[in-house]
Amino acid sequence: MDNTTSENEIIIETIDLKKAYGAGDALVMAVNGISIKIKKGEFVAIMGPSGSGKSTLMNILACLDQPTEGRYILDGEDVSEYSRPELAMIRSQKLGFVFQSFNLLPRVSALENVMLPMIYRRENRISLAERKHIAENALENVGLAERMHHMPNELSGGQQQRVAIARALVNDPVLVLADEPTGNLDSKSSEEIMELLHSLHDRGRTIVMVTHEPDVAHHTERIITVRDGKLFDDHPNGKRVTWQNATGIDFSPVQEAVQP
Ligand code: ADP
Ligand code: MG
Repeated sequence: MDNTTSENEIIIETIDLKKAYGAGDALVMAVNGISIKIKKGEFVAIMGPSGSGKSTLMNILACLDQPTEGRYILDGEDVSEYSRPELAMIRSQKLGFVFQSFNLLPRVSALENVMLPMIYRRENRISLAERKHIAENALENVGLAERMHHMPNELSGGQQQRVAIARALVNDPVLVLADEPTGNLDSKSSEEIMELLHSLHDRGRTIVMVTHEPDVAHHTERIITVRDGKLFDDHPNGKRVTWQNATGIDFSPVQEAVQP
């Protein structure tokens, strides 16, 4: 096992990360020198206007894309120059994803959707019976014990997103990445999904979520704003600090006394 993460450990570190698209006059610096650190157990929102580079940054953090410059250190491992097959391996070992459009396989049950990531796992292969048992537990934990044999189209949007969250967790990832997880949901389902993410965070999960909804970002404990591919603002827990300060090292909770 290479899972050596402990309390206060940095899960995500990017150093002057850049991603360019095109060349010459058509060159776009989608990510243009972003340096951030995210610790184990943080719950972070990434915000910013359309076209500011959120998805590009998220795709690199998710090991779906490679930076053109700079470094990305994920859970102590520098993955900046990994090939696509190497990144795919890292994804299956370390990351769980939740997408705006749920991305469930339409023709198989909720249970089979949740079992799927365990099939791709190369280390610690486990029996079918055990995969089933783990997936059943994961669905129980998101409140879907009664629905596990339903097909995705027999579930509401909020229920489908809960299946997706169960699926994101079955390989016990060090990091959960969510891209607009409430973007396709009504406000009641959004609230339920945010409560679920909250409870995961309370149980120690590290969650990084892209959103453009301030109501949703408000739930997190740190908001990183990007603009034109650069870090524009980064403030913890409602206590705003300037990004120049925030790009330093320490994101331990602000020590000021809370007013009663
Ligand atoms: P956001 O998610 O914040 O809306 P994106 O990361 O999708 O922003 O895009 C950032 C910038 O990079 C935009 O100018 C966008 O047009 C450009 N971009 C994104 N993906 C590509 C691509 N595959 N090819 C060329 N330009 C791209
Ligand atoms: Mg986007």
